[in-house]
Amino acid sequence: MRELVFLKPGLLEWQDRPDPVLQHPEDAIVRPISATLCDLDRLIIRGEAPFKGPFAIGHEAIAEVVTAGAGTVGLYPGQHVVVSWHISCGHCHRCNRHLPNTCASHPPGAMYGLPVGGAWGGLFSSLVRVPFASFALTPLPPGIDTTHLASLSDNLPFGYELTVPHLAAQPGAPVLILGGCGSIALYAAAYAVAGGASRVDYVDTDRHRLEIATELGANAIEGPPRRSHGAYPIVIDASANSESLLSAIRSTEPEGTCSSVGGHFTDIALPLMEMYARGIHFYTGRGRGKPNVAAAMDFVTAGRVRPELVTSEVAPLEDAPRILAEPSIKPMLVER
Ligand SMILES: [Zn+2]
Ligand SMILES: [Zn+2]
Repeated sequence: MRELVFLKPGLLEWQDRPDPVLQHPEDAIVRPISATLCDLDRLIIRGEAPFKGPFAIGHEAIAEVVTAGAGTVGLYPGQHVVVSWHISCGHCHRCNRHLPNTCASHPPGAMYGLPVGGAWGGLFSSLVRVPFASFALTPLPPGIDTTHLASLSDNLPFGYELTVPHLAAQPGAPVLILGGCGSIALYAAAYAVAGGASRVDYVDTDRHRLEIATELGANAIEGPPRRSHGAYPIVIDASANSESLLSAIRSTEPEGTCSSVGGHFTDIALPLMEMYARGIHFYTGRGRGKPNVAAAMDFVTAGRVRPELVTSEVAPLEDAPRILAEPSIKPMLVER
């Protein structure tokens, strides 16, 4: 088999590896058929994240089951599945609390496509071993077009997690999204619209992303972040920009929630006195992944969220080294 290796900023290549084999009855071997970049991968490839190559990259893919171990349940060869980005057991005290992104049975950070928490390979690969496969893999409805769904591993359920549960608690609340990095902000805009926000304001400097946001039903605000954009009960920083993060915090209304999806790799001084005075609920962390895959998928299959509007291009997986070195927002690399 072969896997895509990130060598250094702007340079990726396919490398041959021995085929993975089942190491435990609960493992499965899968073949990715549609894979894409997480926003973090884009920062890595640009050389803006503190991860040095070489390592196998990629943690967003739809795959076909090749072999399901004897201890798996509900999986069979040929089935199309979402591969969640994190390596998780599904039954530890954190997984049981729907926090498999911090599974206690594996080293901290364990995931595909990054050199943290072990070497699990990347999802831009011809074959992948999936531990605890019955938990890690989410079957797709038979016959569904998988071309634009690769981000169900991470960025799509993250977009759901950032918006829909908050809107369920505050029906019709307006949402502010500080974009600038890539797809998470746009997926979040789509879920906020579908989740019933009375208004979704999307701030970015990039014309193309602003056009996509408009198409998704958001109100596009062009320009750099203002000191504050007002007072919103639900605010999302998906900018990978410290000024936008501070703007997001200052734009959160008293007792409102401000979530940052990360992409900040150095310490940033936060206006803690302002946050204290207004009672700001600030959250930052990696998306929870698996617990939100089914709900995120339901919005897509119902046509309420259309990830194809965010896709920048569809190309053969073979071309990944060239396509991923280019600056496109969200290329879908497919294998037929
Ligand atoms: Zn990711
Ligand atoms: Zn666990």
